[in-house]
Amino acid sequence: MNSAFETLGLDWEYFAFEVAPAGVAGALEGMRALGLGGLSVTMPHKESVARLVDRCAPDATALASVNCVVPDGDDLVGENTDGPGFIDALRADLGFDPGGCRAVVLGAGGAGRAVVLALAREGASDVAVVNRTRANADRAVALAGQVGRAVDAGDAAMDATMRDATLIVNATPAGMTDERIPIDVALLSARHVVVDLVYHPAVTPLLAAAAGRGCTVANGLGMLVHQAAHAVRLWTGLDAPVDAMAEAARAALTAR
Ligand code: NAP
Repeated sequence: MNSAFETLGLDWEYFAFEVAPAGVAGALEGMRALGLGGLSVTMPHKESVARLVDRCAPDATALASVNCVVPDGDDLVGENTDGPGFIDALRADLGFDPGGCRAVVLGAGGAGRAVVLALAREGASDVAVVNRTRANADRAVALAGQVGRAVDAGDAAMDATMRDATLIVNATPAGMTDERIPIDVALLSARHVVVDLVYHPAVTPLLAAAAGRGCTVANGLGMLVHQAAHAVRLWTGLDAPVDAMAEAARAALTAR
């Protein structure tokens, strides 16, 4: 964010604050009172902020989750830029058009649901959600309307679903701090685009295995950068300098 403000020549600064659950309402009132130009929200506060803002934009309403607060006069508006950021990353970084695609989304938490909603809106023809807890998969599937369906990992339909898909998205933490690969990689081939929303490590065990099977692969850095670019546009009304933001994000991760 700071690289974006600097590139745009804005005298803005982005700061991180750790806020306890009991402090969320006060933090939002503080934003209003101080006249802050924008606020990002991360776990575990995305759902409580959706309840506390004056109103939510359509994606944030559908997901009941806010990752970005935008002042509008005296009002605070909750937005969710994760889905649009994911789609922009698919198009800009991979040249992948989600229109008409068959997708498998692993995971149905905040990120998985944002991806499911966005893929359906972009015209995916099939969005299969695979999740440990079936009730959460069903909640995600409901966001995709007619093209959504839940598939249990052990289902007979799982192998065919994987083979018929062109896009596989990991929206679980598998591979972030362990060596887990959440699918049977033997089902992957060069027709698959595999996106892991995890971005640290840059190459997860899933991405390494998928690349070995000839798949096109990407980690979650593109989504992270593009969802932030949407926030910059919403806060400043200016075009976000995506390349500078991506470079800053890569440099920060390399330094970790
Ligand atoms: P979340 O809301 O906590 O959801 C986690 C999901 O992973 C749930 O579907 C959960 O299943 C599943 N899961 C968790 N542990 C599991 C395990 N041991 N085995 C199988 N499934 C498991 O988290 P989130 O915010 O959606 O984030 C998910 C991942 O996306 C994280 O790795 C996060 O870092 C990444 N992410 C990336 C970006 C980006 O910009 N690149 C943005 C947001 C998140 P249950 O429903 O059964 O609990």
